Amino acid sequence: MAIFVYAENINGVYKKAAFEAVSYAKAVAEKAGDTVTAISVNPTDSSDLLYKYGADKVINIKDEGLKNFSAKAFAQAVNEVADGNILVFPHTTDASSIAPMLAIMMDYSLITNVVEVPENLSPVQVKRKAFSGKGFMHAKADSQGVILTVSQNSFGTKENAASGSEEVKELSIANEDTKVISHEQSSGKLDLKEAEIVVSAGRGMKGPENWGMIEDLAGVLGAATACSKPVSDIGWRPHTEHVGQTGKAISPNLYLAVGISGAIQHLAGVNSSKTIVVINSDPEAPFFKSADYGVVGDAFKIVPELTEKIKALKG
Ligand SMILES: Cc1cc2nc3c(=O)[nH]c(=O)nc-3n(C[C@H](O)[C@H](O)[C@H](O)COP(=O)(O)OP(=O)(O)OC[C@H]3O[C@@H](n4cnc5c(N)ncnc54)[C@H](O)[C@@H]3O)c2cc1C
Repeated sequence: MAIFVYAENINGVYKKAAFEAVSYAKAVAEKAGDTVTAISVNPTDSSDLLYKYGADKVINIKDEGLKNFSAKAFAQAVNEVADGNILVFPHTTDASSIAPMLAIMMDYSLITNVVEVPENLSPVQVKRKAFSGKGFMHAKADSQGVILTVSQNSFGTKENAASGSEEVKELSIANEDTKVISHEQSSGKLDLKEAEIVVSAGRGMKGPENWGMIEDLAGVLGAATACSKPVSDIGWRPHTEHVGQTGKAISPNLYLAVGISGAIQHLAGVNSSKTIVVINSDPEAPFFKSADYGVVGDAFKIVPELTEKIKALKG
């Protein structure tokens, strides 16, 4: 039986998290001596993009009723086509709301935020993040069927080209529960959860009028922008940028924190970033304990200088 993987797209375009999930599914399939079948809903991107990461087959669900996202309707759609014992999802906001519904529908175990290929397959036992990313645990499924959600940026994308085939499945799932009233798009050009580099700033910036230098630095680095909770609470930045325990959990390759103290609730959402750089005027700021690189000093001097230096390097 194939390993199934949900390849998430946004407006038809595959997310980086979809390629990571397919890469992960391929590694599981290699361990199981199996193949990978990817499932996507109304993609416009070519299936070649999924073959590149190891999908042997792609099932494209075509359903006009699924133009708007609804966890229940998407779970029903995946349930129509998936019949493997192991189903892989990226741990994105949408996919991680489909996965539990599907686990109930299929009577499968659900293990979220996995970071490695399972150490055992029957039953599945796998390492996952626990306690908001502060620790790890090894979870064992208590049924043969299991759904795994892959923590973003933990496994990475691995090219492993397969000569895949495509099947189009026309469905008409009832999706009456969802009515889109408004859709808040993050202000940055890049999706925060998908970004490789994130420049984030906190109350140390003193006011919203000083964010120009943060956006300039993000611009030269090709980064998304983020902020601490109080900054979005007081309206200096949009809520879509709030990271932490009560905001978005992200794990970019580089997280650059400017004027953020490093409270435990902030760290909960960012501490699995690959490299953390902290700029703070207070040498005792708790964030330095979690930093790979730290700069003690005034952000108002350091950030513009850093931007100029990077520009010069690029030039
Ligand atoms: C239940 C709960 C959930 C929470 N969830 C979150 C969450 O999801 N995300 C989150 O971020 N917070 C969260 N918080 C709030 C958290 O506890 C902190 O209060 C918050 O993270 C602090 O934000 P900050 O670092 O921007 O501000 P501050 O704590 O005020 O820190 C500002 C920092 O800027 C530095 N600074 C000042 N001037 C400069 C300068 N010129 N140059 C460089 N550095 C300077 C200071 O030294 C200081 O370290 C939560 C709190 C609770 C109780």
